[in-house]
Amino acid sequence: MKDKKESKDIGWNLDNSYLNLPKVFFSKINLNPVSSPQLIILNDTLAKELGLDSNYLKTEEGVKILSGSETIQEGAFIAQAYAGHQFGHFTMLGDGRALLIGEQITPSGKRYDIQLKGSGKTPYSRGGDGRAVLGPMIREYIISEAMYNLKIPTTRSLAVVKTGEHVIRETVKEGAILTRVASSHIRFGTFQYISQWGNKEQLKELADYSIKRHYPYIEDDENKYINFLKEVIKAQASLVSKWQCIGFIHGVMNTDNMTISGETIDYGPCAFMDTYNPDTVFSSIDVYGRYAYKNQPKMLGWNLCRFAESLLPLLDEDQNEAINIAQEAISDYDEIYYNNWISIMRSKLGIFNEEELDKAIIEDLLSMMEKYNEDYTNTFVSLTTKNNMDKGMFISDEFKNWYDSWQERLKRQPNSSEEVNKLMKESNPYVIPRNHRVEEAIEAADKGDLSVMMKLLDVLSRPYDYSNDQDDYTMLPKPSSCPYKTYCGT
Ligand code: AMP
Ligand code: MG
Repeated sequence: MKDKKESKDIGWNLDNSYLNLPKVFFSKINLNPVSSPQLIILNDTLAKELGLDSNYLKTEEGVKILSGSETIQEGAFIAQAYAGHQFGHFTMLGDGRALLIGEQITPSGKRYDIQLKGSGKTPYSRGGDGRAVLGPMIREYIISEAMYNLKIPTTRSLAVVKTGEHVIRETVKEGAILTRVASSHIRFGTFQYISQWGNKEQLKELADYSIKRHYPYIEDDENKYINFLKEVIKAQASLVSKWQCIGFIHGVMNTDNMTISGETIDYGPCAFMDTYNPDTVFSSIDVYGRYAYKNQPKMLGWNLCRFAESLLPLLDEDQNEAINIAQEAISDYDEIYYNNWISIMRSKLGIFNEEELDKAIIEDLLSMMEKYNEDYTNTFVSLTTKNNMDKGMFISDEFKNWYDSWQERLKRQPNSSEEVNKLMKESNPYVIPRNHRVEEAIEAADKGDLSVMMKLLDVLSRPYDYSNDQDDYTMLPKPSSCPYKTYCGT
């Protein structure tokens, strides 16, 4: 156990504001030491941002903290309560395999939840073992850090620690714990939970807490709860438009996996799309394609309705009026989403100003990519670099016509070709975490070789570099008869 002074030397500056909420929002969790914790990876850059001493975190004592085997604040571990619509069905959930160490206040004054995922059973485990497996935790580490570097709001990963314990899945696996860093873990489902099983006062406390933490500039607004709903709509619309434009498929957009902050959370069955196909689904359990690529904006709309419903008691005393207010806010979602989407797509094509025709230019390109089974990321890279345009879609007449009209469009703006190229390079990543590369890194790490993962992380730390040493990572997987599949909760 560290005394206060020593913890400060390490950089811990923990607060526990969530503990001030009514007790229904969380359960206290006891220390649950694991048998022989061993550090697999520590994110030095993130540790520094958080104000933590990474050398210390790498020591035996540091690793004990990152595995939930030791605490820096007695009695402060909590698991959060939440509910959620899972594939359309409402259920009580909660942190079934995670605990919150506390909220780290960084040297620059930001507040981040430090959460251990895979740390053992909690009152919300519902028959699960509370544990996580090494491979999926490495996967979350790689993809969440890639997302961060791709400039997409996301939770981050500070560390992965092996527990030294076996976890039973379809076979016996190595247990692991991921340290997740988030601007908070408040979900749509946290509101749904209290709206279903709590009272109006508790709902108000959660809303006030969330506003203070994420949208402090609306705190004094007369209609602060309506504005809160609008802020969450904006944040999530912006997030999902970024997913669409980069080809990211979350895979499990249940309302418990949607944050109030607008950060991507829960990297279970997610994956990046290679070939452009709007119907793409990777998740093994998403048999009806509810969360297919093309459905993500629609599903966000549905989730926002559920969130708005949970806020109704705060929107107006009169229920009918509250519903009208919520509907009005939600009715703006489509347009907000569309404006975000088209603005990013314009940048991907080097377009600075706005023309009605832009939508058609973008959609025509996407339909051609679908028709010719072109890779989503590499198509935009080719348009940026003008390389690899000697095959497939690029040599078709329809593409040549499209290309001419795109070039004409670029001439109808005052910007130079250098400016266009700069915008395109900043808007189109050269590398993304391709599924076969992620799998290769996990496979090697599982056998004790971390070098493949380290190299991949290095390449993914600078996705807009367009450098030669990244070329191998732009390659597509070898053709395979089995489509890539991802799994939840492993
Ligand atoms: P997810 O699919 O990761 O969003 O998880 C849905 C719910 O299942 C959450 O409440 C998780 O905490 C819980 N959960 C997932 N895996 C486990 C596990 N191994 N043990 C207990 N709860 C789990
Ligand atoms: Mg989840």
